[in-house]
Amino acid sequence: KENSARENNVAKIKVVVRKRPLNKKEVSTKEDDIVTVYDDAYLTVHEPKLKVDLTAYVEKHEFCFDAVLDEHVTNDEVYRNTVEPIIPIIFQRTKATCFAYGQTGSGKTYTMQPLPLRAAEDLVRLLRQPEFEVSDVHIVKEYIERGNAARSTGSTGANEESSRSHAILQLVVKKHPEVKESKRNNNNINEGNESRSGKVVGKISFIDLAGSERGADTTDNDRQTRIEGAEINKSLLALKECIRALDNDQIHIPFRGSKLTEVLRDSFVGNSRTVMISCISPNAGSCEHTLNTLRYADRVK
Ligand code: ADP
Ligand code: MG
Repeated sequence: KENSARENNVAKIKVVVRKRPLNKKEVSTKEDDIVTVYDDAYLTVHEPKLKVDLTAYVEKHEFCFDAVLDEHVTNDEVYRNTVEPIIPIIFQRTKATCFAYGQTGSGKTYTMQPLPLRAAEDLVRLLRQPEFEVSDVHIVKEYIERGNAARSTGSTGANEESSRSHAILQLVVKKHPEVKESKRNNNNINEGNESRSGKVVGKISFIDLAGSERGADTTDNDRQTRIEGAEINKSLLALKECIRALDNDQIHIPFRGSKLTEVLRDSFVGNSRTVMISCISPNAGSCEHTLNTLRYADRVK
């Protein structure tokens, strides 16, 4: 009883928006910052428009989310606002998912990269098992680095690849943690289901999604880009549908809608928590993408 009360203290779905600062290029070209954050939960986008007589005017769009983090917020504060509250309930059979959504260059990777390591450190700290040291967490760091390297190979650059792929890192807590064995056997990084011995207690998945603008690439002339765009679009739509089904306590979760949601299927059943971090760029030139991102987040909420 006490446990379930505690579990309920952490919202099932949390939608957080993070605004990044203007970058050097945007500052040097004197781009306007069109995003204003109010009161930790509200933000306004000032959409620049041109009238027929060419007198510029601004259309305002107001949004409200569980939390809105402005450009001064550190990664540490992001962790405390998103993942930290979920960590204790991972030991109570919770499957959690934390993902970053947004256009390429909006800060998804910057936001997601430190989270798994922080989470692993906190999980280990809560375990307080003498077979288990916080310093052992360095193994997680290695996996993160390996994953990032794999993501950027064979192409023109890391950002190009990452805008076209989803990256998933899962931390799994098992009843009899076979830490020593998994440390020795480095091939076993793709665990995450129950296939290896040890019963899964809880799990947290971190997802750095493909650039949301890629989903709109379905009109591109290049066939491969078009196919990728369609797949990304499908997975982003499927993800939204699954989260909404979770939020409505639906028994049928449409995880078969895409490869991404199929990978996450066991996170959509039972006691689950979802944190969505919508990353937005502040510059006027990104206005359309920013509004699209906020509208997607609004529909998940
Ligand atoms: P994405 O993964 O969405 O394509 P990145 O995380 O690579 O975007 O961010 C793009 C650039 O902006 C990077 O150089 C990154 O360091 C910088 N950046 C992103 N968010 C922030 C932030 N909150 N504060 C400072 N720099 C940031
Ligand atoms: Mg990225």
